[in-house]
Amino acid sequence: MATERADLEDAYLSTLEARLLRREGGNGLVFDRSNFYPEGGGQPGDTGFVERADGSRIAILGTRYGEDRSEIVLLAAEDAPTVEPGETLVLHVDWQRRYRMMRMHTACHLLTVVCPYPVTGAAVGPEESRIDFDIPDADADKAAITERLMALVAQNHPVFTRWITDAEFDANPGLVKSANVKPPRGSGRIRLVCIGEEPALLDAQPCGGTHVLETQEIGEIHVGKIEKKGKVNRRMRLRFGPPPAA
Ligand SMILES: [Zn+2]
Repeated sequence: MATERADLEDAYLSTLEARLLRREGGNGLVFDRSNFYPEGGGQPGDTGFVERADGSRIAILGTRYGEDRSEIVLLAAEDAPTVEPGETLVLHVDWQRRYRMMRMHTACHLLTVVCPYPVTGAAVGPEESRIDFDIPDADADKAAITERLMALVAQNHPVFTRWITDAEFDANPGLVKSANVKPPRGSGRIRLVCIGEEPALLDAQPCGGTHVLETQEIGEIHVGKIEKKGKVNRRMRLRFGPPPAA
């Protein structure tokens, strides 16, 4: 049986009632549906807690995919009380952490708009994110990039998802920004995350992560550091808040 992915349709669903299908290993909980994001695509899995009918709570320390990716496994603490399949619980995502993740993740998409170069790696975090770019004859100026990034935030562009077929995706090779990450195949459809307004979208790329609905939600953000990782590779770090005074 598969877990229904409520987080893919609504990233703002911080709580959700769900029924336990089975336990996996010692501390894995597989529900019929889930609002917890599983680790993948450069974004860490959600944490939080699940609440039983009597009000008691079981801490969730992480979330990952099951073996064939059709199930989502919430990872309880090792010493958590045993829950039996069939029990209905309320799944509470640690919203403060997740919302920072959504803001950061959306900011990473905007960074690829400002820096339209192949992405060779990315990691989203609640405090800091990093993206690796291949920039030919690269001199990247973090103050200039921050300024352009904040202009896109302030313009408050809408962010939305659209599902396309594998065939539509194959017909648009320009959608792939990431040089070594291919979107998951097999379901026949691919989730595109779009920023901007039709017909002049700022950005559209395959992504399974969680994002905010409007770029203004990102808030103040800056490029904290640009490191040289090779002849053309530049690692950029995004951080919340204004740039530190020079
Ligand atoms: Zn994304």
